[in-house]
Amino acid sequence: MQHFQVIQTALINGEWIDSKNKLDVINPATKQKIGSIPNLGVKETQQAIDAAAEAFPIWSKTPPATRANILLKWHNLILQHKSQLAALLSMEGGKALEESRGEIEYGAAFVRWFAEGCRRVDGDIIPSDNPEKRYLVIKQPVGVVGAITPWNFPNAMITRKCAPALAAGCTVVLKPSELTPFSALALAELALEAGIPKGVFNIVTGDAESIGNTLCEDPRVRKISFTGSTRVGQLLMAQCAPTLKRLSLELGGNAPFIVFEDANLDKAVKDLIASRFRNNGQTCVCANRILVQESIFETFLSKLVDAVKKLKVGLAFKDESVQLGPLINQEHLDKMQRLVQDALDKGAECVLGGKPLDMGGYFFEPTILTQLNPTMQISFEEIFGPILALYPFRTEEEALQIANATHAGLASYVFTENMPRLWRMMENLEYGMVGANTGSMSNAITPFGGVKHSGFGREGSKYGIDEYIQLKYLCLDVS
Ligand code: ADP
Repeated sequence: MQHFQVIQTALINGEWIDSKNKLDVINPATKQKIGSIPNLGVKETQQAIDAAAEAFPIWSKTPPATRANILLKWHNLILQHKSQLAALLSMEGGKALEESRGEIEYGAAFVRWFAEGCRRVDGDIIPSDNPEKRYLVIKQPVGVVGAITPWNFPNAMITRKCAPALAAGCTVVLKPSELTPFSALALAELALEAGIPKGVFNIVTGDAESIGNTLCEDPRVRKISFTGSTRVGQLLMAQCAPTLKRLSLELGGNAPFIVFEDANLDKAVKDLIASRFRNNGQTCVCANRILVQESIFETFLSKLVDAVKKLKVGLAFKDESVQLGPLINQEHLDKMQRLVQDALDKGAECVLGGKPLDMGGYFFEPTILTQLNPTMQISFEEIFGPILALYPFRTEEEALQIANATHAGLASYVFTENMPRLWRMMENLEYGMVGANTGSMSNAITPFGGVKHSGFGREGSKYGIDEYIQLKYLCLDVS
């Protein structure tokens, strides 16, 4: 990638594919068009699956050390282009520039981690219980993988799925979000430059339903890895039933953020700001319900108000000092207004913010709501925006009961300096992840994923590559 330019074509079998039918991509901070992508569908998805299926026998048998070297080169190229990739990400996703640079590093870390890990996918020899038999287990790639990714991490969600898949020896057909496709296409260009062979990594842009449907229905696709809404995850699972595909689903969350009276309040406030306002509140692990022990509720609230007032909202893609960008589109902006209005109608108090900001894009004021109750939409929906919803609680039992009273089970957070209580909470929270006295916990080397309606499968860590591997048992008669 000599001169960085926005790639506006899909990638099938190593060829950049265009079409007359296009979808526009908008900068959410200005509502202006950045460019467009081919609006592809069933036919092109089938072509991409053809290419991935054809490339699979060779890629899956390429020695892991060779695959690792190619992936390490990809990793290095991503980091070499960090500032350009971050600028593109902020432009299409609205994310603060510093956060975007962080995402590029975070995304690259998955590539490196799985490049290193694929050389250690060891099988087993099981001590035999029969003198005439020997038992072995080998690990093989699952086959062609369909990956479907969201807009809130346009870079890292791709590497988090594609790096382990490619490292394991699978080939991939990726459908990035139509809202943020350019980060994916830029990654693909670097992947080609790193030497990933044609057909091994394909990107189909366009109509979500027909691309998704085709990936799910085709028996050659052996695995779907999806990050997005619970609604679409359920749909994909149903669509995959006839071909019995393996699935990894990383779906919505409704994270409790519990602050006990014995917590370090300044740390809790700082970490809450980091958790709730990352990507302007648009991550699936954002603190969604802030549970604060009654005895410290007012103190905590006043510290929080001071901290939130300092946050700078604006054109994150071009102003380094901006911390909060816009929401991704009108639909999400409307949702903020709906959640606030519904809460106010049912008796909530708006302590700060509460309205859209007239700045040209999909901006909403950082908002704090109190006096909330479980009948309000905000208490059971994933907010996905810059709203802090605070609830008081009296006892540990009550905090746990409220925290677990949701179908979601992705991230949870608990703040207390009381060690036995911390342990009890960590063990009893029905979530895939618990941040104990921390509001940020995700990285390439630990297992990310949920329980209940937040899905299943783990990304990152030593477990992440297992999602793309199947076991084969070999029974050898030595009589
Ligand atoms: P979000 O609310 O985060 O946008 P979605 O589940 O709508 O979550 O989107 C996540 C990804 O799923 C995006 O790439 C989107 O295009 C894709 N998607 C949306 N609807 C479907 C569908 N019916 N089939 C397959 N993919 C879909």
